Amino acid sequence: MNKLYQELLEKIQRFGHKLTPTRKLVLEILCKEHNHLTSREILAQAEKQNPEVSRASLFRTLDLFTRCAIVRPTYVENGTPSFVLLNPHGHHAHIICPGCQKVEELEGPYIDGLAQQMIDQLDRNVSGQLVEFYGFCEDCQEKK
Ligand SMILES: [Zn+2]
Ligand SMILES: [Zn+2]
Repeated sequence: MNKLYQELLEKIQRFGHKLTPTRKLVLEILCKEHNHLTSREILAQAEKQNPEVSRASLFRTLDLFTRCAIVRPTYVENGTPSFVLLNPHGHHAHIICPGCQKVEELEGPYIDGLAQQMIDQLDRNVSGQLVEFYGFCEDCQEKK
């Protein structure tokens, strides 16, 4: 597996948690996908590799990863959060529509510059980031 996977495995251990097979598998899936995944999607992928993985242990794992700031749930319309991997080396920004809950990725040098400026100002070891802006999308703006 890749460097990011190794780094996040070490992070879990630094927080004093054991590396169970489910934790390793879920982390592997998150590092491979680099995408928003719902718990159902993660479970479907996990089951392909290990049919023994239970829903309960998957939920506990995602809960733990959220507390360790490895993932962050993003809530959308149907109430099912999708999980975003907090990559310590990459900037991640969204604009979310309060009308329809659509989540769009914000990319570009502006976001990277803004994030880097914040990091430089914070006297902390920043291990992950997710920036969220809120604003009505074109469809919802028209309906009003
Ligand atoms: Zn909208
Ligand atoms: Zn995103």
